[in-house]
Amino acid sequence: MKVTVVGFGYVGTVTGACLASQGHQVTGVDLDWDRISTLQSGLMPVYEPGLEELTHSALDRDLLKIVHASDFCEPLGEVVMVAVGTPQLSDGGADLGQVYSAINWIREQKPNGTTVVMKSTVPPGTGLRLTKRQLSGSGMRYVSNPEFLREGQAIHDWKHPDRVVVGTEPEHSRSVEVIEALQGNHDAPYVVTDITSAEMIKYASNAFLATRISFINEIAALCERVGASIDVVSEGLAMDSRTGSKIHAGVGYGGSCFPKDVRALDHLALTSDANVELLRSVIMVNNRQRLRPLYALRERFNGSMSGLRVAVLGLSFKPGTDDVREAPALDLIRALCDDGAVVSAYDPHANATARRHLPTSVSLLNDPLEATEGTRAAVLMTEWPQVVETNWQEIAHHMFPPRYLFDGRNALDPATMGRLGFEYRGVGRPCAANSLTNTEHFSAHKLNGRIA
Ligand code: NAD
Repeated sequence: MKVTVVGFGYVGTVTGACLASQGHQVTGVDLDWDRISTLQSGLMPVYEPGLEELTHSALDRDLLKIVHASDFCEPLGEVVMVAVGTPQLSDGGADLGQVYSAINWIREQKPNGTTVVMKSTVPPGTGLRLTKRQLSGSGMRYVSNPEFLREGQAIHDWKHPDRVVVGTEPEHSRSVEVIEALQGNHDAPYVVTDITSAEMIKYASNAFLATRISFINEIAALCERVGASIDVVSEGLAMDSRTGSKIHAGVGYGGSCFPKDVRALDHLALTSDANVELLRSVIMVNNRQRLRPLYALRERFNGSMSGLRVAVLGLSFKPGTDDVREAPALDLIRALCDDGAVVSAYDPHANATARRHLPTSVSLLNDPLEATEGTRAAVLMTEWPQVVETNWQEIAHHMFPPRYLFDGRNALDPATMGRLGFEYRGVGRPCAANSLTNTEHFSAHKLNGRIA
């Protein structure tokens, strides 16, 4: 199938490369000259495991080409996928400027029976408005097909989705076949619905996951107060089929989607005269959660943060990506600097993307040992294998007492870290001094369906 992908950013590149790997003939269109020339020269503007190989192979087999919108001079594909950005406006709403300009560009290409597939995350109601206004009389079909891929596992998620959501107008139900033909074979169930419900599924999914994360983080804070262990609590919780899979406590969610999508849903509720107080709390809990390591450091060092040398390990909002959009580590570092701390940091892939968002006083180093050398405290913010599996013994030798280690992702074993000489602190894990529990009780073992 001939496919045009408008917006060749994160989602567009993954979509284009995956479609080409399935034999579709793809043209990627973007407005960013730098991005286009980087991609054309075979380099990747983002770090995403497997994407480079897939893109190279598609370019080599002539199944993918990438052009600037102003250089596009071929008939549009049977399918045009829109994957432009929908960033946050200052009032929390979604900025649809890129979507409108993409639709206008598509119209200018004189489409003929084209199906427009919206991959961008747009607020519920947007697709219907587009079909009634910008797309009216254009002869184009509109399909909402929200994207659920996770950065760091994007190619796997694209090829093995949990479900495929297709929102369409009743008279265009053949659009489902178009999506099936694009996606190729997999066992995922299809949710075929109206356009607005499809859009809402995307927002509700992100908001629900964000809610679960903020919920477990609040429970973790309570665990710390009463001496319970969040590791066991969250495992026990996950064994109840009504409450969903295990969710980990940590320093909160970030990234290019969750924060903006939760705020956009909150904004939609406000402008629709609906009440979503829960979402507002979810956002507030998350904002506070990012600064938990700061509060813990202030407490441990009696507020004497000025000149305190602190290492921050991990900068991207999660492992497997160099994306630092809304990364909790950046908020933490800025707050530490405001308190007068001297910060060194390390990330295996995101040092370059983080650089322009951080004060120049922050040194970005090439491995965890360099970053922690001579520091009195370290904070693990992203659970990269390069951080979790680093040589902690060597790090302990090169840090100064008290070797305070805040594990913002509960990724390390508290007992091991204690033995190595660190003063370990996790999220919702009892302090070593707490007499109610000890580290041996941290993991839940399933014995005949009971936690022992
Ligand atoms: P991005 O900012 O990485 O990419 C957007 C691209 O669109 C940019 O390269 C930009 O230059 C280009 N663009 C803007 N206007 C254009 C136009 N008129 N014509 C052609 N190109 C244009 O954004 P992203 O992370 O890829 O996200 C795209 C959409 O997908 C967003 O709505 C996002 O919420 C959603 N989404 C993202 C993810 C993710 O993990 N990043 C996951 C699911 C859904």
